[in-house]
Amino acid sequence: MTLAGLDGSGTVSLISTKSGGDLQKNRSLIENLSPGTTSHMILKSAQKGTPLIKIGKGSPKVMMVSGVHGNELPPQIAALQLIEELQETKLRGTVYSIPFAAPWATMENTRWFKGSDLNRVSSSDGSITNNILKLIQMLNIDSVADFHSTKLQSNPGRESVFCSKNPCLGSYEIGDHITTKTSSELICYDKAGSMYNGALEDECNLRGIPAVTCEVVSENGEVNSGSPERSLLQMQYYLEHFKIIK
Ligand SMILES: [Zn+2]
Repeated sequence: MTLAGLDGSGTVSLISTKSGGDLQKNRSLIENLSPGTTSHMILKSAQKGTPLIKIGKGSPKVMMVSGVHGNELPPQIAALQLIEELQETKLRGTVYSIPFAAPWATMENTRWFKGSDLNRVSSSDGSITNNILKLIQMLNIDSVADFHSTKLQSNPGRESVFCSKNPCLGSYEIGDHITTKTSSELICYDKAGSMYNGALEDECNLRGIPAVTCEVVSENGEVNSGSPERSLLQMQYYLEHFKIIK
């Protein structure tokens, strides 16, 4: 993992060099992007690995992740849009964004990164999500949000925010804020990690870093009309909760 060049705001660095992919090959993704300058830089660095971008400075410091499942496109589209917007905004704090956690999986338009579900292996040494988790700890990130999409009649199959109350009540507070503002459904567990092993959100909460998983509805590998906008709204209210944006 290299963090070279991660000093200034607006800088792009790579946190894994085994995950790269040519995102131009995912037509459903590309057709829904209207990328600005920074997005172009990110798409280019995604060929070599997982890009990380830092915007703003000081506290609080939050991390926003999309593309842990490569075929869940709306949050990956929304992440680039948010990055472009945030660069034009005065922030009170620092936003670290990983718009494409596994560019290879996004290129292939698949949930699986070379056979593994990255949202089940965050505690497994060497996985991309484990690299992200270590980075979160190394950077002393105050909170994490992981953005997904879900098709109807699947799990959860509805626009929602997953959170838990123990050991991090902050997770519930974030979930409550986002769902109240967006009318997404709150899915709250008493204990983090009681449902799955190795989800990025749970592994953060278990380490005392308040985290949520946000879901919008879209067909896998496709972009339902309006779904990137719903994902963007969840992202904006996540930042609003921390007063990073108004
Ligand atoms: Zn997912």
